[in-house]
Amino acid sequence: MKKTKHRHSDVQSAARGSGNDVREGDKTPSWPETLLAWYGAHRRPLPWRTPGSAPLSEEADVYRTVVSEFLLMRTRVRAAEGYFRRFLERFPNWDELARAPEEEVLRFWQGIGFYRRATYLHSLARTVVERHGGKFPRDPRSWNELPGIGPYLSGLLAAKLLGLPEPAVDGNAQRVVARLFAWEGPKDDPGFVRRVRDLLRTYIPPELPGTFNEALMELGETVCTPRSPRCPECPLQDECAARRSGEPTRYPRPASPRPRPLEERDVYLCRTEAGILLVRRDTGLLARLWHFPHLSSASAEAGSCCADFAFIGTVEHAFTHRLWILRLRVPPASSATCGRAREDLVRLLAEDGWETRWFLPEELVRVPMPRVFRKVEERFAPFW
Ligand code: SF4
Repeated sequence: MKKTKHRHSDVQSAARGSGNDVREGDKTPSWPETLLAWYGAHRRPLPWRTPGSAPLSEEADVYRTVVSEFLLMRTRVRAAEGYFRRFLERFPNWDELARAPEEEVLRFWQGIGFYRRATYLHSLARTVVERHGGKFPRDPRSWNELPGIGPYLSGLLAAKLLGLPEPAVDGNAQRVVARLFAWEGPKDDPGFVRRVRDLLRTYIPPELPGTFNEALMELGETVCTPRSPRCPECPLQDECAARRSGEPTRYPRPASPRPRPLEERDVYLCRTEAGILLVRRDTGLLARLWHFPHLSSASAEAGSCCADFAFIGTVEHAFTHRLWILRLRVPPASSATCGRAREDLVRLLAEDGWETRWFLPEELVRVPMPRVFRKVEERFAPFW
C-alpha cells in the first residue's frame, strides 16, 4: 500500500492545542495503514455495507447508506439492523419513501426513538425526488440545503460517494482519536470535534477515504468501546498514548452532564362513541406523533373540570434531556360530569395548539405513537 503522507507539524500543533504531546503516534505515523489492514480482516458484514472500497456509484447503494446513517445516528448497530431490513423492504428507494405518507414512515421508526430522524429522512427523500430527479446530488455545496445532512454525514458522503479525503467524525471516531493521542476533550465540545476533524484530514489516505472512515468507526464500535476498551486486541495498541497512560477510559473526558428538568403532566383518557381522543403537534418534543392528550399541571388547573378526571396512577419516562412524570386520568363515573370535563379538556388542548383526532381502539396499533404513550396505552386499556 502506498505510504500515506502526513503533515507532522499540523498534527503536533493540533495535539499541543489540547495540552498533550503526541508521542509514539507522532513519530511512527503508520496507524492509518495498520487500521486499514485490521479493518480488511475484521470488517463486519452489515446489511448496508457494499463490497469493496470504490466510491459508491449506484443510486441504490447511496440510498441504503443514507438510510443506514440516519438509523445509526442514535442507535447501536445491532439494534439498527432489523429496522434497516424492514425499512428497506417497505421503502426500497427514494421514490417509494417520498411517496409514502409521513405517518407510515414514523410507524416504521417506532421503538428506536429520536423520531426527528425519520421526519428528516422523509423530507430528504422528497427533496431528492422533487428537486434532484430522484438522484442524491453529487455537488457537496448543495448538501447544506438538504434536510438532516450535517457535518458528520457530509464528511461520510463526501468520502464514500465522491472519494474526497473528508473525515466523518462520530462519537466512535472521536473516542479513538482522543485515546490515540491522549486528548482529554471534553467530548462533544465543538472545539474538540473540530480538532479531531482537522487532525484526521492530515491522516486520511486519499486513495481510501471512505474505507478509512468506516475502519475508524468500526474500531470504536467493536474494540475501543467507551467503558471497556480491549487494548490487548487493538491494532493501534503500540501507538496509543491512552493505553500507555494505563487509564484509557480517561480519554476523552465525558461532556458535562446536562441538567434534566423534571416535568409533571396530566394525561387523559378521553373516550366517546367516536373513539379515543389523540393529539399531535408539528413542532416540539415528539412532534408529528400521536399522543394521548396531556397538559401541564398549570394548564390543567386552569380548566376546573379537568380535575374531575379520576387519577389512576403514574408513568415515568426519561428522555435524554428531561424527565416526565405523567399522572394518568380516566373519565369520571357520572356522565354529566364526564361531558363537562371532556369539553374543558378539548378547549384547553385547542388553546395549547394541539391537533385532535378520534381513533377507534383497534386503530391504535397502526398509529405512530412514541414509546412513552405506548406505556400509557397499556395502563388505559382496561378503561375503554
Ligand atoms: S489501545 Fe486501547 S485505548 Fe488505544 S485505541 Fe486501542 S482500544 Fe482504544
